[in-house]
Amino acid sequence: MSEELNPFKIAQQQLKSACDLLGYDQSIYEALAEPERFIEVNLTIKMDDGSIRSFKGFRSQYNSARGPVKGGIRWHPDESADLVKALSAWMTWKTAIVNIPLGGAKGGIVCNPKNLSLTEKERLARAWTRKLADFLGPRIDIPAPDVYTDGQIMSWIMDEYESILRQKAPSMITGKPLIIGGSEGRNTATATGGIFTIEEAAKELDLELKDATVAIQGYGNAGSFAAILLKEWHDCKIIAVSDSKGGVFNKNGLDPKKVLEHKKKTTTVVGADGTSKISNEELLELECDILIPAALENVITETNAPNIKAKIICELANGPTTPSADEILFNNNILVIPDFLANAGGVTVSYFEMIQGYYLDFWSIDKVNKRLSVIMKDAYHAMRKKAKEYNVNNRIAAYALAVERVVEAMKMRGWL
Ligand code: NAD
Repeated sequence: MSEELNPFKIAQQQLKSACDLLGYDQSIYEALAEPERFIEVNLTIKMDDGSIRSFKGFRSQYNSARGPVKGGIRWHPDESADLVKALSAWMTWKTAIVNIPLGGAKGGIVCNPKNLSLTEKERLARAWTRKLADFLGPRIDIPAPDVYTDGQIMSWIMDEYESILRQKAPSMITGKPLIIGGSEGRNTATATGGIFTIEEAAKELDLELKDATVAIQGYGNAGSFAAILLKEWHDCKIIAVSDSKGGVFNKNGLDPKKVLEHKKKTTTVVGADGTSKISNEELLELECDILIPAALENVITETNAPNIKAKIICELANGPTTPSADEILFNNNILVIPDFLANAGGVTVSYFEMIQGYYLDFWSIDKVNKRLSVIMKDAYHAMRKKAKEYNVNNRIAAYALAVERVVEAMKMRGWL
């Protein structure tokens, strides 16, 4: 892989820029440029046909100055040590920007879960937990679901960990099903967290959310809940949504729930009643107040950025905007809410799941959303303050704020 595309090199370059902006010297950069601890394990399990197979597993614990580390577990054939390290760095900045008392981690297993039976998956999850048990725990490192892992896998990991510990430890992992200690509001958390930041951005721009026009790329977990809740809570006009097969448009507003029903029946939003067809490229350039990329990375580039007319871009997807596009949007006065703030509702509600597990006291959806709202809004305003202070775009400001918080914690502990 070229240096340019290596995710860990990218994460290190972003860190370097933030350190330079903050006036930190090289020694501080070096203290932050590698994970505190990186563990590689070899997992050998019996397959259903009696054969033996070994899989490589990782856990990267990037920085624990602000608290126990936290981050998802991916099961993917392309999983690599550098990808896991990069993702653990990004989790560190994400927990810091929303100011929850956690550090960042990430883990994974190199495998193709589509080729594993349910029982093989269970053996693999339990093997990963046994190898890493000494390094996991509610006050050490708290995993969560990520690509191709889910509530079932989290449940097996918790069960294996508890059997080693010979105690219950529900807060050792999040993303659990409700029946064994999951949190209300976890499914919708990414969308709701994003909406709370949109509310603050709209206030700043004097934009009335009632009848504000919204275009959303991607109609999966993040995009569809954002559409439904923006309509339900604020009576926004959702004028266009899309998925991998194309998009749909109605200038008077779509019914997001009906579009979702149509997608469930036909696998795509395309063809939903009362809509006309629109391409994914056209959707991004629509005349609208709020644009929400909620699908893929690198969709807003220097080619289409000059044509974007939205006033606010809320990045629910990870990495939808390239660095050159960022500068164009900034110069065109478009208010971008960067991914690691916009989509931090997920990790924040995971943190609530940990708290609920500590106290064995479970919250209503109203309580979850109220607390999430306070955290997201505070983070939004702290980022905007930094952006104005340094006259930089919101992404750079968010990085600077997050890195500064981690460095301050390291200094307080006497690490720097
Ligand atoms: P998902 O798989 O539920 O949905 C993805 C959607 O994107 C689908 O509707 C799919 O059809 C669409 N899509 C795929 N390729 C496309 C293309 N070429 N053009 C347009 N649409 C396309 O995924 P999700 O969980 O909603 O995640 C979406 C994004 O949000 C990802 O970048 C993810 O990393 C980020 N994110 C999600 C969460 C979460 O809690 N779900 C949390 C943080 C970040």
